[in-house]
Amino acid sequence: MTLYLFNTLTRQKEAFNPIRKEEVGLYTCGPTVYNFAHIGNLRTYLFEDILKRVLLYNGYKVEHVMNITDVGHLTGDRDMGNDKMENGARREGKSAWEIAEFYTQAFKRDLKHLNILDPDIWCKATDTIAEQIRLIQTLEEKGFTYGTSDGIYFDTSKFDGYTKLSHQNLDALQEGARVEKNPEKRNATDFALWKFSPSGVKRQMEWASPWGVGFPGWHIECSAMSMKHLQGRLDIHCGGTDHIDVHHTNEIAQSEAATDERFFNFWMHGAFLNISGGKKMAKSAGNFLTLDATFIDRGIDPLVYRFAAFQTHYRKPMEHSEASVQAAQNGLTHLKNQVRTVMKAAGSRPGKPDETYTAKFRNAVNDDLNMPRAMAVVQETLKSDLESSIKLATILNVDRVMGLDMADVDQAEALPAEVQRKMEARIKARREKDWALSDQLRDEIAALGYQVQDTKDGMSVTKP
Ligand code: AMP
Ligand code: ZN
Repeated sequence: MTLYLFNTLTRQKEAFNPIRKEEVGLYTCGPTVYNFAHIGNLRTYLFEDILKRVLLYNGYKVEHVMNITDVGHLTGDRDMGNDKMENGARREGKSAWEIAEFYTQAFKRDLKHLNILDPDIWCKATDTIAEQIRLIQTLEEKGFTYGTSDGIYFDTSKFDGYTKLSHQNLDALQEGARVEKNPEKRNATDFALWKFSPSGVKRQMEWASPWGVGFPGWHIECSAMSMKHLQGRLDIHCGGTDHIDVHHTNEIAQSEAATDERFFNFWMHGAFLNISGGKKMAKSAGNFLTLDATFIDRGIDPLVYRFAAFQTHYRKPMEHSEASVQAAQNGLTHLKNQVRTVMKAAGSRPGKPDETYTAKFRNAVNDDLNMPRAMAVVQETLKSDLESSIKLATILNVDRVMGLDMADVDQAEALPAEVQRKMEARIKARREKDWALSDQLRDEIAALGYQVQDTKDGMSVTKP
């Protein structure tokens, strides 16, 4: 069965074939760790998780790399403004390094809560400074760079095909780039490879380089890291749609200029999560909602958000509202109830996944990750007259892509409602560091005959 993916480079669905036969190199641009991720960011990571799971479902081995941007991402995408990390540090009265560590851990917790598979390789921008400097040196040797008073820049006019990803007319791009004016740049679209530390100011994050003390521009890290970890397997590179015009366009320009080779065959982009009324959710707009605030703190299973994301195709904008959360909550509860009924009917009889329904499901996800259609196939399967054990095996099989913990539904919902309520209250108490209440709730749960255990991944409640 062929896997079709929409490639932003060619603007069409293409049959996907990796460079190496059975192994796929996947690079997903990671978070800038100066604040919590918002559920918009997490929508993009959910789309990438589905992509990865679909590749695995198709039998590929996947080498997945995700970077952590912990330096160099300025408040203006075009190399102007302040470093977001240093801004975050000032806001919280901590060091940039502390901020990076704190928000990296928070991000990893979010991924876990959403059942997003961990990348095989995490890499931090600050751990690959030497590789970034080497790449800039190559560009310098090949004549693609020039210096200004504040840094070393890439001359975009020297790279043919600068607009091949954005498909924008260069004049329009230049015009868009002119918003942030830097009179020393030769072309409005030129971008910084290395920025100098401002004179007289000691930055928290700075390194010596052949050009002077400073820090790398934002885009160079992703080129250096993907070349370092995925050389010879530059198959798929992803991010949100906002990365098309600047970040990914610049990554392609500097990488292909340095190597004279194509940099990634497939470029895939997830559409935005908007707040009702079509407004983009953004950290800078101050209208952002975290996974904790929207789901966990209110006792809502974060997998409700995972389920919600499946209702809209990843290339279409998704609207977030209280009503959409409610609808997804009802939808997931309904699905779990359906699966629980099948589980009870199947008993301990082993079953094999049904080939027709798994093929239908695979057809849907292989059509550019069509999750709305795939979820309809799940409903069709549950309502079919397949034998219960076969039905169950089919659902568990496709849950390798859904990642909704279908195998655990029986146990999870077997808790009496009162225990469930006390457990959620205890999660909230612990989040608020109300240890006395947390202990009291543990005792109350014990009095109902259940044992609470705290692990590094959260709390589990079992019947001893
Ligand atoms: P950042 O941490 O700002 O670098 O963003 C992390 C990822 O989230 C990037 O791939 C962005 O393209 C993506 N992103 C940012 N805002 C949204 C949004 N409102 N909806 C979906 N994805 C987003
Ligand atoms: Zn990137």
